Amino acid sequence: QIRTRFAPSPTGYLHVGGARTALFNYLFAKQSGGQFVLRVEDTDQARNTEEARAAIFDGMRWLGLDWDEGESKGGEFGPYNQSERSSIYDRWFEVLREKGRVYEDDGAWRFRFERKPITMHDLVCGEVTIDYTNVDNTPDMVVRRSDGSYVFHFVNVVDDLEMKITHVIRGEDHLMNTPKHLQLFEAFGVDAPQYAHIPLILNGDGSKMSKRDEGAAIGDYQTQGFLPDATFNFLALLGWSPKSEEEVFSPAELIERFSLEKVNRAPARFDAEKCAWLNQQHLLKLDAGAFADAARPFVASAGLPIDERYPAAAAAVQEKVRLLSEVPAALDFLLVDEIETQPDVLEKVRKNDAAKALLEALAGAFRETSDWSADTAKAAIGDTAKANGAKPGQLMFPTRVALSGKGGGPDLGDILALLGQKTSADRVEAFAK
Ligand code: GLU
Repeated sequence: QIRTRFAPSPTGYLHVGGARTALFNYLFAKQSGGQFVLRVEDTDQARNTEEARAAIFDGMRWLGLDWDEGESKGGEFGPYNQSERSSIYDRWFEVLREKGRVYEDDGAWRFRFERKPITMHDLVCGEVTIDYTNVDNTPDMVVRRSDGSYVFHFVNVVDDLEMKITHVIRGEDHLMNTPKHLQLFEAFGVDAPQYAHIPLILNGDGSKMSKRDEGAAIGDYQTQGFLPDATFNFLALLGWSPKSEEEVFSPAELIERFSLEKVNRAPARFDAEKCAWLNQQHLLKLDAGAFADAARPFVASAGLPIDERYPAAAAAVQEKVRLLSEVPAALDFLLVDEIETQPDVLEKVRKNDAAKALLEALAGAFRETSDWSADTAKAAIGDTAKANGAKPGQLMFPTRVALSGKGGGPDLGDILALLGQKTSADRVEAFAK
């Protein structure tokens, strides 16, 4: 039975690196029907905050990284907060003391390394050996501070063995900690889990990603209108690839396809364009109702009225947006009475001297159109242009601007059908004035 864990320290929001680590652990456990544990490494009381804890849980829930044990789920191996596990750490410290593996040094306690080379067989990085023969290069490490608290290496190992973790998948920044952890497992007389250290995530320009960089905070993906499944997909591709051309995957497909052998050793690069493109692919896969639902909070918070026109308006722009946050500006003209015209497109139309007269004629033609539909309305545009010695194309753009205030958007026929005869005629007439 495979058991993995995500072990965040709640000192900040959930960032892309942490979420990616959680995701790989989740995928790896789920594909074999194993368990995914959430353990909070909250021993650094000075830096931990309640907000950070909540942000991590919220981010994981939003992504659908559903843990089997831990916060609000409980489980056989709890408590799952390190701050509540001190008696367990004391017990394992006694094991080391009885075996003569720790000694006191000014009130603190050091762990006596075995003076030999330690080789780890990392599932991503391969063999890595650290030679502990030389005491000066590898001094015995403090495991218990003079205030009685334990260091990261100690609690991390104790928890992994107590929680029966079989695979530790974590960031490459922990690679050099692992030989120390193997020494501890050996001293405890327990088999160590298998380790897989996954590559760093860099910015698009190759610099190291920091907390303030674009794409760093998982919460931002939510506010910018990424779908959870698209973000899930994107995170999976940060360091893993199916080694084929395919890129768009559902969470279920990723659970099936993921493998540690296909995790790259080279650092992953954050690509904002790719991220938006993937989101668009996921948006296109939604049925119209699901798309309208996903976009609704964005439309509502932009202050637009959501009424019986909304479902069709949303459907009209589904293919036009990459992020849900773009939806309000894409469909506002279909939901409000007073539209604003973008200054740049307004200028473009005003430069076209013929447009005014053509639009005036078109307003009249619209009013006289019988059986209003996308087709009859478009035919009216063609006829008006012809009757006035212009090409239909010359009238299309000004009509679009008059109706929507924008230079691009849904198919003009769709716009005409959605707005209806009266609104279409009124807007064209008002714009021509
Ligand atoms: N709390 C550690 C971190 O956030 C966990 C390291 C590990 O996964 O073992 O880096």
